[in-house]
Amino acid sequence: MKRAGGCVVCGRRPGFSWAVDHFGDSLCAGCSRELRCWSCEAATGGSGERARTVLDDGRIRCARCSAWAVDRQSEVGRVVALVRPLLHSYGIRLPNPVRVGLIEPDRLEQLAGGSAHGLTRVEYAGGPGRVVELRVVSGMPATQFGRVLAHEMGHAWLARCPGAGIRNARDEEGICELVGSWWLRHRGGRLARHYLDAMESNPDPVYGAGYRAAARLAGEKPPPEIVRSIAVTGRIGGGNGDSSG
Ligand SMILES: [Zn+2]
Ligand SMILES: [Zn+2]
Ligand SMILES: [Zn+2]
Repeated sequence: MKRAGGCVVCGRRPGFSWAVDHFGDSLCAGCSRELRCWSCEAATGGSGERARTVLDDGRIRCARCSAWAVDRQSEVGRVVALVRPLLHSYGIRLPNPVRVGLIEPDRLEQLAGGSAHGLTRVEYAGGPGRVVELRVVSGMPATQFGRVLAHEMGHAWLARCPGAGIRNARDEEGICELVGSWWLRHRGGRLARHYLDAMESNPDPVYGAGYRAAARLAGEKPPPEIVRSIAVTGRIGGGNGDSSG
């Protein structure tokens, strides 16, 4: 268990050599080299909040991420019930009802590539876009699951906005990452802050650069205003006269 000044993993008082991790927790040198949680990247072990779980597919997960993890289809509904009303309150609605399905990491990697955590399939059969599939990878804590769900709901919503189907990948993913960030800010807490930091420093030229560009254009404008702008013009709108994006 965590004691004041003790290692967050093993509970011992750190010796001469110790580390402070990205959550601001202190770890002894040995524990700082332990296997990391696939979701929050925290070193795992011990019997406290960093206790290690090994999932069936080999992924390592800390106790904090495990506590609210979405591992089964029956657990999807409780996070959908948090994310959907938030996005509705901002004006984001899906073009048609669609069931949110879980997908195994291996299967998602085959369909969407290594770094994807979700998948939305939209069909444009000569008319307005229609969402035919929305999947989120299993095994994520609710905070991260909600981020991915909000991102994917962003794609689904964009299917009926101006520019649908022709928006370049960087702009499209940037808007969806921005929608995901709204959930994280609403959710709050250290885990949400961690995922926000990861998005802000993501080196990916599509997701990371797209998010930073979208966030710059969004500026301090409240989400409903940004949603309205995209619904009308297909764009976030220019902050400071900047109309690029
Ligand atoms: Zn330790
Ligand atoms: Zn974790
Ligand atoms: Zn996306």
